[in-house]
This record gives sequence, structure tokens and C-alpha cells, in this order.
Amino acid sequence: MYQADSTRYDQMVYKRLGHSGLKLSAIGLGLWHNFGSVDNLANQQAIIHKAFDLGITYYDLANNYGPVPGSAEANFGRIMAHDMKPYRDEMIIASKAGYEMWPGPYGDWGSRKSIIASANQSLQRLGLDYVDIFYSHRPDPETDVTETALALDQLVHEGKTLYVGISNYSGAQTAAIAKIFKDLKTPFVIHQPRYNMFNREVETDVFPELRKAGIGAVGFSALSQGLLTDKYLHGIPEDSRAKKSSSPFLHPAQVEATLKTVAQLNDLAQKRGQTLAEMALAWNLREPEVASVLVGASRPAQLVDNVHALANLDFTAAELKAIDTILAA
Ligand code: NDP
Repeated sequence: MYQADSTRYDQMVYKRLGHSGLKLSAIGLGLWHNFGSVDNLANQQAIIHKAFDLGITYYDLANNYGPVPGSAEANFGRIMAHDMKPYRDEMIIASKAGYEMWPGPYGDWGSRKSIIASANQSLQRLGLDYVDIFYSHRPDPETDVTETALALDQLVHEGKTLYVGISNYSGAQTAAIAKIFKDLKTPFVIHQPRYNMFNREVETDVFPELRKAGIGAVGFSALSQGLLTDKYLHGIPEDSRAKKSSSPFLHPAQVEATLKTVAQLNDLAQKRGQTLAEMALAWNLREPEVASVLVGASRPAQLVDNVHALANLDFTAAELKAIDTILAA
């Protein structure tokens, strides 16, 4: 039976989400990939155990993670029931609704019908009474944002989530929903945008709005799905995401297109005494709004590497300039 490492809180950094009372582990584990019904359950369990032993408290899910959709929540629920239940109060477990989950007009987007039904399904798959954070996964262009906000607020009142969040909302959309949540006194604490060295738009669009509203961010795909590591420097490994046909979001062409930049970043990381993955995560965390960075992992050892990022979070002005120059080329 799993026994958590008693030193698990010694190395991890915990950062406050905006003005809220909630702190997240500076590195969070995302279950988008590697936790589906097509993936090995023992490896999933090993990744969760390693994450927890490293002090990772934040576990990020969504209704549709798999494949098949829903299976990541079901597998996480199995692992919770098997040996993680004693640690439930040490964990922040999040889920989301918004991307297509079931057929018909209620299986995606942000209507009250869709959000409430999806949250109920998620709790059932997870085998939990409540999640800690429930997100609107993407803004719905056809539904009044007040309806989406009220649906999330209802989940709080029903005790099905402690906090609410949004993901993939622009700066203007963030400001609009933040105002509604403020009026409702909803515990809206977090925005989850894509954020990494290759995707920096949120620095000028979303982060200023978060600063104004006192909301924190957790950046997703912090390693750009593995591109911002040293794994592709000498070819595309057979067992990598870029090689898997079930990974339509990362293509070998993207590996080719970023290779020169990645090699230069890797040299800089080595000069700092870090792997590229470590430097990329530390760089994301330099933004004051970013409380946590979400990484995926196909094996426990990747998490060990990623958590080493915390050993050197500081950048000199010259290093930051060098990174900007490499990224701009
Ligand atoms: P990353 O950018 O961290 O990529 C993860 C992948 O990179 C791993 O699966 C692994 O790939 C590789 N990797 C990780 N660490 C290392 C390492 N140290 N050395 C070498 N390779 C490494 O994250 P994801 O794109 O998976 O996104 C993270 C999470 O963000 C998701 O699980 C999800 O929770 C969330 N997310 C949210 C979205 C939203 O719309 N809100 C959208 C996308 C993600 P390999 O298989 O090749 O080993």
C-alpha cells in the first residue's frame, strides 16, 4: 500500500493565487495525456505517487481528457479510491467543462445545462463529493457570460466545487466575467491560459487583467508539449508525444520548425546548470501572476527533472535578454 514520502513538503514551493487564500504547488500535474483508457494504469499510479511525493498538490483534469473522453477522470478516481483517499485534504483536484463531451447541443460550451450536467458527471467519474476548482474550459461565443458565471456560482453553492476558474478566456472576456463574479461574491481565483516561451500573448492581454482583479494564473502546456525540453534535439524518440498517432496536437513538423531555437535555449540552460525543461519552467514562474505551471508527464522521472526547476528560479537581466533574443530570431 502506498505511503506518502514524509519529506514531500521540503522542496516544493507554494505560491498564492492572486489575492485568494489558496496556494498551489508551483508545479502542477496535468492529466490531459497519458491517463486515458489506452494508457497503462500502473504507470499512471506511479506518476501520481511520484507527483505527490515531490510535494505536487495540484492535479488538473477535464471532462474530456482521455482518450476515451472521461477516462482520465475515471482512472484518477480509481487511483484516489485505491490509495490516495487518505491524502484528499492535501490535494487540489480540478476539472473543467466546455469542450465537446457528449453528442447534442448540451455536450459542450457554457450553457447552465451543459456546465451543471458535466460537473455532475465529472464528480461521478472521479468518485468525489466535490472538486477544489471547477473551470469553464473555454468562453462560449453564443451564451451570455452571466449564464456561465451563474452556473459556476451554483456549483459553489451546492458544495460541488470550492473555487471556480476560467480557461482560454481573452483579457476582455476575463475582465467581463471577473466583474460578474465580484458582484456574486463567487470565489473566482484562477485563470488557466496557455503559457510558455513559444506562447507569450497572455503577458500583454490576460496578465494585466488578472493583476487588476487579484486573480492568479496557472499556465498550461508549460513545456509546449515537450518541445521545450532536450528530448527532440537528436531526433524524435519512438515513445514521444510527437511520434504518437493519438497526439494530434503535436506534429513532427513542429519539432523541425523549433529545433534551432530549442538548441540555443538548451545551451543557455546548460550555462545556468539546468536542463532546458527546468529553465523553461523557471522562466514561466518569473511572472508574478503565475502561481503554478502545469506539466504533463509520461513517466515519473520527468517530474523529478521538472521539480528540479525550483532549485534555480532567478534570472539575471542578461539571461532574460538572451532568451528574448533567441525567441525573437
Ligand atoms: P507539457 O507542455 O508539460 O508537455 C508534457 C509532455 O512533455 C509530457 O507528456 C512529456 O511528453 C514531455 N515532458 C515532460 N517533462 C519532460 C522532461 N522533463 N523531459 C523531457 N520531456 C518531458 O504539458 P501538456 O501539454 O501535457 O499540458 C499540461 C497540462 O495542461 C495538461 O495535462 C492539462 O491538464 C493542461 N492543459 C489545459 C488546456 C486547456 O485548454 N485548459 C489545454 C492543454 C493542456 P512525452 O510523452 O513525449 O514523454
